[in-house]
Amino acid sequence: MLWSKTFIPTLKEIPEGAEIPSHVLMLRAGLINQVMAGAYTYLPLGLRALRKAERIVREEMDAAGAVELLMPSLSPLSLWERTGRDKAFGDVLIRVELKRQNRKVNAVLGPTHEEIVTDLVAHHISSYRQLPITLYQISPKFRNEERPRFGVLRTSEFLMKDAYSFDTSLEGLNRSYEAMYRAYCRIFDRCCLAYIPVEAESGPIGGEASHEFMVPANNGEDKIVHCAACGYAANLERAEIGPRRPEQPAVTEPAPLERVPTPGASSIDQVSRFLNCRPEDLIKTLIYLADGQPVAVLIRGDHEANDNKIRRALGAKEIQLADPATIERVTGAPVGFAGPVGLKEKLTIIADYDIQFMRNAITGANEADTHLKGVNLGRDFNVERFADLRCAQDNDPCPRCSGILRLRPAIEVGHVFKLGTKYSEALSARFLDPSEQLKPIIMGCYGIGINRILAALIETTHDENGIIWPVALAPYEVVIVPVNVADEKSREAAFQLYNAFQKENIEVILDDRDVRAGVKFKDVDLIGFPMRVVVGERGLAQGNVEVKWRWEKAPQLMPLDKVVAEVSAWIREERETGARFKAALYGSNG
Ligand code: ATP
Ligand code: MG
Repeated sequence: MLWSKTFIPTLKEIPEGAEIPSHVLMLRAGLINQVMAGAYTYLPLGLRALRKAERIVREEMDAAGAVELLMPSLSPLSLWERTGRDKAFGDVLIRVELKRQNRKVNAVLGPTHEEIVTDLVAHHISSYRQLPITLYQISPKFRNEERPRFGVLRTSEFLMKDAYSFDTSLEGLNRSYEAMYRAYCRIFDRCCLAYIPVEAESGPIGGEASHEFMVPANNGEDKIVHCAACGYAANLERAEIGPRRPEQPAVTEPAPLERVPTPGASSIDQVSRFLNCRPEDLIKTLIYLADGQPVAVLIRGDHEANDNKIRRALGAKEIQLADPATIERVTGAPVGFAGPVGLKEKLTIIADYDIQFMRNAITGANEADTHLKGVNLGRDFNVERFADLRCAQDNDPCPRCSGILRLRPAIEVGHVFKLGTKYSEALSARFLDPSEQLKPIIMGCYGIGINRILAALIETTHDENGIIWPVALAPYEVVIVPVNVADEKSREAAFQLYNAFQKENIEVILDDRDVRAGVKFKDVDLIGFPMRVVVGERGLAQGNVEVKWRWEKAPQLMPLDKVVAEVSAWIREERETGARFKAALYGSNG
């Protein structure tokens, strides 16, 4: 491609509203253009990169035995009503009303395609002989995200690879899941992402039934914990915490129980400021409704309650924080003054493990504007059970080894999930087993955000000058820059190289613009083509050109007649392994 013949609207200034590097750089490098909040045009360079990511995903899905199809974005609302997801998705679901002659059709723009694919299978698969099968597509998804932001990381319309596996047994599901998990690792390896598969909430199947593929990044909207010693990794919802230890030698002398006025101070922050103590000296008493029954949950003041852990510990189907009326009834006080001592109603009290080590704690007094000091377990209150009920924090003990957990923000690029029979039962996708018994098909679902692959990569691999692409995803692999296009010899040499690279099937762009060299170099670095070949008058006089990887500081000289063979060989290696890119960006070959 000749630069002058394509469309690369680079920007000098940081565009308004772009907060994070990937968003800024994708706009500035002329990869995307915003149409409205959450909707972007992919410009020619951006589209090339997107198509390359898509191709890697497709190749690995095919290699894993998944079968491609393409489902429409439009589907009838009735299908979503059958699974209850019209309600579950809430405002995220984009509904459209279609006028068809004299009637109206209620439809949905698909946020994902479980309903449509399960309905398809329900109509065409009826026997164990037709199973297992994994179907996939790469198609636009629509979600009315409340806060579309951060460029293409979170948009209302995005490109997803979504796959669905259909099996006759749990063992079969495990095999299908394994195959997708391995394909995901190959995909993200080939895309040169520094990713970590983390355990995620398991849903209906339980156990290790869901993993998210996360790219640690400062601006990630998710949080993961990771143990460098043993590799344990989980998202914050799911992360277990190892054996707890008291933080400091415990105070031995129990203080007398004391009632203190705390007018207007109900939150942990307010109370600790008011009583001049640390949040970790407080016990939060949270009143939940577990399947409708009120229970009290004790969490140390500086810790965050984890609803999933609490739900599991209580063996409840559903939990939610109690409403103010219930709280007032069971504690005798308005919201913010609950405590384990002297509750009005006899409740089940469960406590997080860290509560065990607290001495002379501060709690609500179950009385408006009042707290208790010197509260001690055993003497003043008892709990039914201790359990892991809080979110992990930075520096917590690892649940699998003696290491410590690190908490880091991350971007979710993919998700694999064992669904079970939720959709097959709702949509009657059943099969006859060998003994002619009708059973629901066991499903898994597997998503990858294609746009997020690009954004996550740019977010983690850029420098002060711009993007740094690996060869596998770069819009073009090689850029040729004649320093002075007005110089006939330079022009000629540059075009010669350009033709020769094309013959080698290298994706090459020639910057034939008649602009200052400084402008070209700035743009080339901003876009971040992996290999730059500079044709200068002085070098050419000696029969040399300069070659440089985007991630290298200094260029090296190479004879004009050697450069195409040498660089083409490097590019082919990099396409396969990304080894140079990974070594330079992540300091490793893996
Ligand atoms: P998130 O928690 O970030 O909203 P999700 O868990 O709802 O994502 P899934 O339903 O698991 O997303 O979708 C599969 C993949 O699609 C995600 O792993 C992510 O890469 C991508 N994705 C989801 N929502 C968006 C979005 N609004 N914009 C771009 N990509 C998205
Ligand atoms: Mg997800």
